[in-house]
Amino acid sequence: MNVFSHPEFDNHEHLSFFCDPETGLKAIIAIHNTSRGPALGGCRMFPYASDEEALRDVLRLSRGMTYKSALANLDLGGGKSVIIGDPRKHKTEALMESMGRFLEQLGGQYIAAEDSGTSVPDLKVMGRHTAHVAGIKEHLGFDGLPSNGDPSPATAYGTYVGLRMAVKHGLGRSDLEGLKVAVQGIGNVGYRLARHLKDAGAKLWVYDIHKDQMDRAVDELGATPVSAEEILTLPVDVVAPCALGAVLNDSSIPRIQARVVAGAANNQLERPEHDAALQKRGILYAPDFVINAGGIIDVFHERTDHDHHKVRAHVESIATTLDEIFTRASREGLPTGTIANLLAEERFRHIPAQRQHTARKLAQVG
Ligand code: NAD
Repeated sequence: MNVFSHPEFDNHEHLSFFCDPETGLKAIIAIHNTSRGPALGGCRMFPYASDEEALRDVLRLSRGMTYKSALANLDLGGGKSVIIGDPRKHKTEALMESMGRFLEQLGGQYIAAEDSGTSVPDLKVMGRHTAHVAGIKEHLGFDGLPSNGDPSPATAYGTYVGLRMAVKHGLGRSDLEGLKVAVQGIGNVGYRLARHLKDAGAKLWVYDIHKDQMDRAVDELGATPVSAEEILTLPVDVVAPCALGAVLNDSSIPRIQARVVAGAANNQLERPEHDAALQKRGILYAPDFVINAGGIIDVFHERTDHDHHKVRAHVESIATTLDEIFTRASREGLPTGTIANLLAEERFRHIPAQRQHTARKLAQVG
């Protein structure tokens, strides 16, 4: 298995492999870049078919976190961890404790949060052995309501304010009254996003693989249920992917009728060139790693100042960042994802040493 010559290797600063035969833990931590501060990112537990697949995932995801945090103006770098195993079969308290000891060995250069396959209770178990876990403290959320650390409400609100900005640029309107929106995936983020949209007067179409999730949106939000095949290609104004990645691809892009794509799902573009394919079709795409940063913003503030007014203002700044990206993309004739990458790189490269030092101190407050 190659590391430095791996196709997804992007000058990552650090990679650690950890094996604990007693608990069965096999994990990899990847730190992509810490120029803005310690690397914060989720700990994913997944039954990877091979070590190579796990390595590929952790390299790609950790790099994505550097870009996401830089664009959200957070004093954080990018990192991610993966545990090789099926969370439904292999997850034990002992395994999570072992992961906590592994995190502790890195001395705070990487801070773990929830991801697919791990939850608030898992992170709390890791936290018995390390302070370098996040997304676990009960606090007031961005909306002033009690939160158990779940970042989904902040992610949904950030996606909502970002979608409004995309509608302004893509459709030239600032109100959402009667706006037609198709939401794919009505889970933690998708349902909350749909509720914000409904409250603002939008009309909703929804699809989820789980019927009960769809029924809830139909009953509580008056949404129209549609099929898996229809959801991305309906004659609506906006498509909001909030389920899984790679949904913007060779098959879907030519059939999308909406002028705006703005949703929370990670890695929506199947391949980087799909960014340009959307631009060519005149579809305004809100880059996923910009619009879905509300959760990491929430987690960052949980570790620093706990001020919910600040969190809300910070989450709302996602709209300002998208405004800058859309304006630059239109001026330079480049796809929005390309501009977002350039802007992120401007923000995480060439950080003065003094700022790096302050950022590390700030983000290590546990
Ligand atoms: P979730 O698991 O609560 O919701 C996902 C929903 O999508 C579920 O209801 C599931 O049934 C549905 N789904 C799965 N496959 C589907 C398919 N093929 N078609 C339609 N629906 C399908 O997850 P979530 O926390 O709401 O996250 C949604 C997306 O947003 C994910 O891509 C996640 O990576 C991303 N995201 C989430 C957060 C967060 O704070 N939760 C932050 C950043 C990004």
